[in-house]
Amino acid sequence: MTIAADLHIHSALSPCAALEMSPAAIVSRAREAGLDLIAVTDHNSVENGFFAAEAGARAGMRVLFGMEAQTREDVHVLCYFEQRLQAERFHGRVYPLLPDMANNPDYFGDQVVVDAEDNIVRHEGKLLLNALDISVPELVELVREHGGLAVPAHVEASPYGLLVNLGMVPPELGGMPLEISADCPREQALREFPALARHPLLRNSDAHFLRDIGRARTEFTAPEPTLAALLAAARAGRFRADGPADHG
Ligand SMILES: [Zn+2]
Ligand SMILES: [Zn+2]
Repeated sequence: MTIAADLHIHSALSPCAALEMSPAAIVSRAREAGLDLIAVTDHNSVENGFFAAEAGARAGMRVLFGMEAQTREDVHVLCYFEQRLQAERFHGRVYPLLPDMANNPDYFGDQVVVDAEDNIVRHEGKLLLNALDISVPELVELVREHGGLAVPAHVEASPYGLLVNLGMVPPELGGMPLEISADCPREQALREFPALARHPLLRNSDAHFLRDIGRARTEFTAPEPTLAALLAAARAGRFRADGPADHG
C-alpha cells in the first residue's frame, strides 16, 4: 500500500508554532490534506503527541509519537516511537537534560499542552526551544534503546541542520534515512552535500501553521504504517519525497 506521511508537524506546545495547532485541528487538517500518517514533533517534548494520537484514533488517522530534539551541537533530530510507553520513557530521560530556563511567552511564544478536545491542559514552564545536554550519537543511541527511530531534520539547512553543524553524517547513522527541508528538492541537497547520496532523503512539512500540513510529504510503499515497515521501505528506495518547490 501507499502511505502518504508528514512526519514533522509542530503543535501549540512549540513556542514557534501557532496556537491553532491543537492536536485535534492537526489531525483534521491532515485528513483534508490526504495524509495517511502523521507525527507531531514538538521541540524537546512528546506531550501533545499523546493527544494527537487520541484524536487520530477517533478520526481514523494513524499518528506516530514524535519529538524534534535539539542536541548539544544545536542539531535537530526527529525521534519517532511506535508505542506511547516508549515515547513516555524517552521523554522522561530527555526532559531533565533541558536547561532549567523559564519560557518567556512574550518573546518566544506560548507553550500550550492541549488535549484531544481542544481544552488547555497546562502551559509548559521550561523553555523548550533550547539544546539538550546530549550529543547526536548519544541521542541516536538513546532513541534506539527505547525502540525508536532517529532521523536528523532538515539536514542541509541553517542553523540547525546536521550537515551544517557537524559537516558530516556520524557513523551511527550510516545508510539511515535523513530529512531534507520541505523547500529543498533532492537534487539541490545533493549538489550541496554529495554525501547525502548514501541516504534515503525524506521530506516533511515542518508545519507551524495548519495550512502548511502536508505541503511536503513522503509517500512510502509499505505493507503497514509501522516504523519498521517505513524504515525498510526507505532503505529499499520504496518511497517518493515531494515538496512545493518541485512544482514550480
Ligand atoms: Zn528544526
Ligand atoms: Zn521542526
